[in-house]
Amino acid sequence: MDALSAQLLPDAVPDHDLLVFQQLSVLAANRPAPDALLDVLCKALGAISLSLCFPGEALPDGERLVVAPLNYAERHIADLCADMPPGTDSAQTAARLMFFSPLITLTLAANRSTVPQSGWTAAAQQEHDRLEAVLDATNDAILMIDTVGTLAIVTLQFERYTGIPRYEVLGQPFDVLAQKIAAQPGLPEELAGILRALAENHTESLSSEIEIDEPQHRILVWYSVPVYGQSGMLLGRLFAFRDVMREREVDRLKTEFITLVSHELRTPLTSVKGFSDLILESGDDALPQEVREYLGIIAENADRLVTLINDIIDITRIESDRVVISPQLCALPETIAQVTAALQSAIEEKRHRLTLDIAPDLPQIWADPARMAQILTNLLSNAIKYTLHPGEIVISARYIDTLEALPDTAIRDPILPCVLVSVQDTGVGIPPGDQPYLFKPFYRTNNEIARLVGGTGLGLMIVKSFVEMQGGQVWFESAPGEGSTFYFTAPVVESKSQPGNISL
Ligand code: ADP
Repeated sequence: MDALSAQLLPDAVPDHDLLVFQQLSVLAANRPAPDALLDVLCKALGAISLSLCFPGEALPDGERLVVAPLNYAERHIADLCADMPPGTDSAQTAARLMFFSPLITLTLAANRSTVPQSGWTAAAQQEHDRLEAVLDATNDAILMIDTVGTLAIVTLQFERYTGIPRYEVLGQPFDVLAQKIAAQPGLPEELAGILRALAENHTESLSSEIEIDEPQHRILVWYSVPVYGQSGMLLGRLFAFRDVMREREVDRLKTEFITLVSHELRTPLTSVKGFSDLILESGDDALPQEVREYLGIIAENADRLVTLINDIIDITRIESDRVVISPQLCALPETIAQVTAALQSAIEEKRHRLTLDIAPDLPQIWADPARMAQILTNLLSNAIKYTLHPGEIVISARYIDTLEALPDTAIRDPILPCVLVSVQDTGVGIPPGDQPYLFKPFYRTNNEIARLVGGTGLGLMIVKSFVEMQGGQVWFESAPGEGSTFYFTAPVVESKSQPGNISL
């Protein structure tokens, strides 16, 4: 037997073969059994016989046998074997077989049931079954569309989530699934569109969520990634859908519980604080000094608890997208004055010196005054807290209409024009290792000072959320032992009474 493995592609494909290729493509699109294609190809090649030899099988007999390997998804699935009449150029036949082999490969892959079980090695079959069982056992619904648009993997969960029997679509072209999605009541129309658009996109990884009403109401969070084999060959695109209905419900209950408990705690605390302040301010000289001190401690701790509870309520609202921002044109100097007045006693107690450096021509900003006050309160109280010895605190605010006017440390381009506010202190500073995590919830620097100074690690996260919700940016500069400067921006918007400002 003169078996020659085909490895070369023809330099130029003869016209005749191009026509045959077209004819076979049309035939292949109708998904016939591979034998139908082999018949046509056998005649076109002028072969005595043309057959498939699956792994583990002996090659067919033939005096002038030419063999082309067929590989699919990095696996050798069969050999295409042509027995040629005497006088045929074997190298040329090998090249022609290589030219036609992709069509035969794809037909085989699309008709996997026609590949005899003996064609798969026992180990490969076992591996395939195991993978299928593992995928079916996962909670996520998994779908894979291969590079020719065939549904290569459809798991049991997909059938459960969509109500589409998986064996009606597995191994079928994507259009079959699209039709079933359209015909299935309760499935969102956009589902087929998302799958189709992504199946043609070979690079991006995306995720989002969809809601389905039937067979059962579910919120499905999905993500999709292109899948590459070890050799870097694109194998197709994978979709995974996760049912998050239960998680969402638990989240909602948790939020409701925290909000309820926080409000219930805040009400009695207001009385504790109110009455201790009342007694202290009554000017009753008969009150022993010791009792005054205790009342002061009660009032101070009630204040701390109220701040903590307010932070928790805010974080819960932020995380559940329930923060209501009511922006209006507001004058920042007024807000700064209110906040500094409220924190005056804390500043005096630590003997800090506060300087206000507010530009005189500051335009009004588009912001929620209550949220702006909270941002400033959190930043100023941090500056007071984290400056241990009597130090300098400077609050400045200026109008910015060009990027060049921003400090070099500004992280992204803010909306311009804006007002840039900074709160600068000469405090303990923030170690470089802690700086990337500062705006994360509950993050506190892991040093003695943070342990010494009370706090929750929620203040800066609230600052960041409120600043960004109002179209601004927040960032900071800090050096341990030298102090910190926190910056934030607030966009300026048009007001008929303020010529020179732009409209959003
Ligand atoms: P809290 O002050 O309640 O701990 P924050 O979210 O306001 O929470 O701050 C998080 C951490 O950032 C603080 O624990 C502190 O370590 C650090 N930090 C914040 N502001 C300053 C500052 N002005 N100077 C030094 N460290 C600061």
